[in-house]
Amino acid sequence: MTLRKKIVAANWKMNMLQAEAAEFVKDLLLEIDDISAVEVVIAPPFTAIAKVNEALGKAQNIKIGAQNMHWERSGAFTGEISAAMLRDLFVRYVVIGHSERRAMFGETDEIVNRKARAAHEASLRPIVCVGETLEQRERGNVEKILSLQLRGSLADLTARELRETVIAYEPVWAIGTGRNATPEQAQEAHSFIRHILQELSDQTTAEHIRIQYGGSVKVENARALMSQPDIDGALVGGASLDPRSFARIVLAACEDQEISELSA
Ligand code: PEP
Repeated sequence: MTLRKKIVAANWKMNMLQAEAAEFVKDLLLEIDDISAVEVVIAPPFTAIAKVNEALGKAQNIKIGAQNMHWERSGAFTGEISAAMLRDLFVRYVVIGHSERRAMFGETDEIVNRKARAAHEASLRPIVCVGETLEQRERGNVEKILSLQLRGSLADLTARELRETVIAYEPVWAIGTGRNATPEQAQEAHSFIRHILQELSDQTTAEHIRIQYGGSVKVENARALMSQPDIDGALVGGASLDPRSFARIVLAACEDQEISELSA
């Protein structure tokens, strides 16, 4: 069995002014200064990226993510940000295809795919979000939707690029609603996602790709979700705005990682 390093990411969405971001990082470092068992990513709004980087100082174990990017390298795209601009700010990860962007800003799988390819070209690691709506789940279309989203969003990525891609399974009905998928529902979806990843590449590659769960992850449910065999971390929205809650979710991931390492 491949031992994957768990990855826990904070998606701050459109929250946090610079001073708040600096305060958050200061408080977070008090709780998880020297974590290395799992990877930790903070995705602030663009305007707070530099401040977060400054506040992290030497805490190199916490990486910076962005919440979006444009696929072109430069040019007449008013209001957009390129992968190279993110690299320039020491960003390592970028969230792509979040359901809020799909629903509110018209992002299609084709656009997600362009962004994922542009991210890799600039050595940024994309966190590609997929997930079904409640209606799609109730109609029994979860696998069909996940398969379409994955095949469209990951088209033409090489096996090496796929290994450096993180998938976030985020059922739309669980985002910001307080209603999380049960660990069993999430595991079922993650296992299906890994099966599709294998079809898109090969077994070894699929075994290496990390699949995060996102959707109302909080301190109370983090451990149960992340102890499922195909759940390799969490993408956390609401609960990531409080440094203590986020730290406790990271620590839950660490405990689980350590147990998996002992039993491997
Ligand atoms: C998210 O926005 O990616 C998310 C999972 O949000 P929340 O944790 O608030 O459901």
